[in-house]
Amino acid sequence: MEIQRIIDKTRKNLLESVSEKNLLKIIEENLKRLRKLYPENKNLFTNSDIIFLKSLNNISQKLILFIEICEELPYLTDIFDYYEYIEKLNSIRGDIKDFPICKRVDKEIRELIERYEEIHIKEQQKMGHLLNKKIIQLELNCPLCKEGHKMTIRNGTYGTFWGCSQFPNCTYTKKLSPEEQSYLNT
Ligand SMILES: [Zn+2]
Repeated sequence: MEIQRIIDKTRKNLLESVSEKNLLKIIEENLKRLRKLYPENKNLFTNSDIIFLKSLNNISQKLILFIEICEELPYLTDIFDYYEYIEKLNSIRGDIKDFPICKRVDKEIRELIERYEEIHIKEQQKMGHLLNKKIIQLELNCPLCKEGHKMTIRNGTYGTFWGCSQFPNCTYTKKLSPEEQSYLNT
């Protein structure tokens, strides 16, 4: 019987496939064929067939989401996105955990966890870059050594201050003006 053959074949694929794209293709094709056959052959579908076919719908949605995420992951630089992707992958994993394809999701989660350091550094560089740009715009020359040495912004116990770049040869320091301080904080 064709219907039972399609259902069995889909079940078998679900229990064997470790490629999300292949599995999705098979599920979608077979669901389409079964939907076409259903109106004329309702009595040939058992209750457990129907439950199984409905669960396939959910699985195919998760596979689509998973494939999308895999395409986006290489471009990930934002730490907030990072946590969001981990959460999404974990949720997908929960829905397909009974099938071998979940190993693919596990692999992506593992690789993402390994990338934490790299993404964290990128995020800090982004922040640092922003701060550097601001500092350059605020830059001034040291009035003490009178050779046009630049002042740099330093972090001390009592907060940020201007210090001569020639330190320790020159120990000139200066408080940040309230405007500079608030500029750096924005
Ligand atoms: Zn100086």
